[in-house]
Amino acid sequence: MAQVEDSPLTTPNMRVGLGHDRHRLVTGKPLILGGVTIPFDRGLHGHSDADVLMHAVTDALLGALALGDIGEWFPNSDPQWAGADSAVFLKAAIEEVRRRGWEIANLDATIHAERPKLSPYKSAIADNLANLLGITREQINVKAKTGETVGPIGREEAVDADAVVLLIRVR
Ligand code: MG
Repeated sequence: MAQVEDSPLTTPNMRVGLGHDRHRLVTGKPLILGGVTIPFDRGLHGHSDADVLMHAVTDALLGALALGDIGEWFPNSDPQWAGADSAVFLKAAIEEVRRRGWEIANLDATIHAERPKLSPYKSAIADNLANLLGITREQINVKAKTGETVGPIGREEAVDADAVVLLIRVR
């Protein structure tokens, strides 16, 4: 039987992380998804800029490293994060990834919104995330789904985002 310290399960070369987030759609706020401001008559409510996609990606990175969640790192009770650009959270997470010897293999994400139609913006969102994360455009995919007119997404009460990331050990 293999020694525990030799096991690829205890010192794996790959780790997967999952992120999910939801913010309420309200009037009087901009709609920012993956750092891209999207023209719409409503935006997302939150303590920071409420970028639901960036929060999901940040949680996926923290999750892959078993480092808890975005709420532990950047509490929404902390006034220093009021109105914060969520790129700050994402950059902190990717810095932690690299500091610990990992790189992103790929990132896949889905935005769930009944409206506005996001297909014209998916590419710009992916470009912006790739740029912030220091990865190539081929390593990232952004998808958009509606809520089929039912549930909090379909009734345009909220926007959700899911993200999954695979990390590869590089040192
Ligand atoms: Mg959030």
